[in-house]
Amino acid sequence: MCGIFGIEGHDAASNLAYLGLYALQHRGQESAGLVSWDDRQMYLERGMGEVADIFDERLLASLPGRRSIGHTRYSTTGLSVIDNAQPIVVKTSMGPLAVVHNGNLVNGGVVRDRLERGGSIFQTTSDTEVILHLMAKRPRATVVESLMAALAEVSGAYSLLLITEEGLIAARDPHGFRPMILGEYQGAACFASESCAFDLLGATITGELAPGEVVLAHPGGLERFRLPQAAVPSRCAFEHVYFARPDSEVFGDVVSQVRTSMGRRLARTSPVDADIVVPVPDSGLVPALGYARESGLPFEIGLIRNHYVGRTFIEPQQSIRDFGVRVKLNPVRGVIAGRRVVLVDDSIVRGTTSRKIVRMMRRAGASEVHLRICSPPTRWPCHYGIDTPRREELIAARQSVEEIRRYVSADSLAYLPLAETLAALGGDAESYCTACWTGDYRVAVGKDHPRQADLFPIHTVQR
Ligand code: AMP
Repeated sequence: MCGIFGIEGHDAASNLAYLGLYALQHRGQESAGLVSWDDRQMYLERGMGEVADIFDERLLASLPGRRSIGHTRYSTTGLSVIDNAQPIVVKTSMGPLAVVHNGNLVNGGVVRDRLERGGSIFQTTSDTEVILHLMAKRPRATVVESLMAALAEVSGAYSLLLITEEGLIAARDPHGFRPMILGEYQGAACFASESCAFDLLGATITGELAPGEVVLAHPGGLERFRLPQAAVPSRCAFEHVYFARPDSEVFGDVVSQVRTSMGRRLARTSPVDADIVVPVPDSGLVPALGYARESGLPFEIGLIRNHYVGRTFIEPQQSIRDFGVRVKLNPVRGVIAGRRVVLVDDSIVRGTTSRKIVRMMRRAGASEVHLRICSPPTRWPCHYGIDTPRREELIAARQSVEEIRRYVSADSLAYLPLAETLAALGGDAESYCTACWTGDYRVAVGKDHPRQADLFPIHTVQR
């Protein structure tokens, strides 16, 4: 769960990359960073926290050059510490390299062990650094060839951007788990996890990297390459369900249209006699609109989200602890009281949030609460870059829908069936990864594969 942005061939490269990161903030709030290249050297600035807190005019002015990449981080592998913030910059015999990564390597730990036994010294606990070590060990005539040789040794999910002396390189794994959009701004080539980053700049979408595609952008234009590894396309369905911004286009589809269709389909498969449809903001907003339109029930804003609660919220004192979900969400009593409510959300992971929200609705006077979830039950952890807990923490891995209904104390509970979810995604259903719902892992994960975040349990002191 990270956002990446890159631009090649613009005098204001780092300023534009900063704007791109701003639009990709929802993909990661732990740390952010930018690298630029001015034909002589790399310039790196990164920090913990959100983009707006890290960068200012002075810092951006210290990132000169026409080539820049940036990253917003939400760790799934490696600890949330400054050493793991990206971009990662190294010096190699092919010149300096900088990299940003969205995704998760499933064999990162194994490759790292092998490299360490061969004498490699790692600077971070993130799986991304493995790719740089492999490249440094396999110099080729061009950096692209060296990258492709390195990528032959890793498996899993990666959308990557690299800055090299030769140009900016973008690469997407052969399965295409994570998105990577290609665009153009005033003659400069742009790359982003989601198209909302281009909208902020006023850049035009020109396409998407195909799974297994490598693109080199340099002052002479674009050169395109293909990784030789064959793979079944496995686009992450959860990008459309939850992760991407609704105003983005990913995998060739507009996220809000997909989510509206999910809501409409849920209204058809699981209708209910009720008075109002209320979304759980923000993730439930668009599908709830679809549900309301299809069912003909009024759409009401019955829950308000406080957008200023960061991940770092500190609960003040033992005696007044457990604000729980109330810090983030507050019911609108006048809307809810005495009403039979259809409550729409995107997914249930542990079930704790849903349980608190249903109780909150009842306390606000709802006469009935019918929970509708716009995706199938999340039964399996993701090993490809979405932050899901261990299997035993996933409520749907242990309990039936009826048991979950009782746990969250809803009057009824329904999920969107898998076939309907895939139909809403459109295109070729086979081209989506549905591992979190089906356990069908397209890239083999060992039986005892650890949780992503536990792969490199090295402890670093946070600065
Ligand atoms: P819970 O069931 O309490 O674990 O929380 C579920 C809620 O978290 C859902 O309503 C989603 O909006 C949100 N959610 C789903 N997947 C993720 C994720 N990978 N990271 C953070 N939040 C998520």
